[in-house]
Amino acid sequence: MIPRRSRAAPPGRRRPGPGRDRGGPRGATPGDSGPTRPKAPGRNSVRDNGPMSLFRDDGVVLRTQKLGEADRIITLLTRGHGRVRAVARGVRRTKSKFGARLEPFSHVDVQFFARGGELIGRGLPLCTQSETIAPYGGGIVTDYARYTAGTAMLETAERFTDHEGEPAVQQYLLLVGGLRTLARGEHAPHLVLDAFLLRSLAVNGYAPSFDACAKCGMPGPNRFFSVAAGGSICADCRVPGSVVPSAETLTHLAALLTGDWQTADACEPRHAREGSGLVSAYLHWHLERGLRSLRYVEK
Ligand SMILES: [Zn+2]
Repeated sequence: MIPRRSRAAPPGRRRPGPGRDRGGPRGATPGDSGPTRPKAPGRNSVRDNGPMSLFRDDGVVLRTQKLGEADRIITLLTRGHGRVRAVARGVRRTKSKFGARLEPFSHVDVQFFARGGELIGRGLPLCTQSETIAPYGGGIVTDYARYTAGTAMLETAERFTDHEGEPAVQQYLLLVGGLRTLARGEHAPHLVLDAFLLRSLAVNGYAPSFDACAKCGMPGPNRFFSVAAGGSICADCRVPGSVVPSAETLTHLAALLTGDWQTADACEPRHAREGSGLVSAYLHWHLERGLRSLRYVEK
């Protein structure tokens, strides 16, 4: 911890020129940066020069936004603190290795400096150091199908972690596992994506049923499927808007959800396509608005 009112810069950070403010992270001042962001929780007291604390965590870089001339806001999904946005200074000024490590899809070990005793809450923390754990981007960005699937995974992970600083360990582990599978090319990218989306729904409490009736529990297989009702439903429980997917499609989706890759990999393309449509409808229903990146995915 740096003592109160200390103006010492965190390690690895060059002291900016004259005319700066009172030191430390300047909180939420994205200025000309990219998309609008949700309001930061908690206070953003500019004048508060409280003590600074050091945090360390593993995380996956979800997204980066420009900040000013040379800086970036990095959004990460971390193991211990859920979604975190942090300022990385000077990363755009040169071809810094530090900046290169903080690219989307990278799995990194990061050090943060934050004002006060909490990582989240009093302005954006500074990201001062990072070490690569696994550079998944290398195996993803060079292939269009992997890249679009991976981008949809990052966006989904961000959408399912609404509250910054709130741990979402299962979502984090799913993302790391999904990106690793995608980068290695072990399975078709759109299958890796659908498995990730289904499991993300499941760990967030929206597991769809592909067998028993989601309403009355009647054992399956059940013929009808309704996004609003929670998946497979029986004839008695069917609701307007129910669809009748093929039995193979439901088997395929159940295999993706449980990780039965032998079954999922062997699925005929038309059933996999129908399954993707159901997954995407189900996800949109629960996330209320669609994922921008999903429409670029090749099925
Ligand atoms: Zn029923």
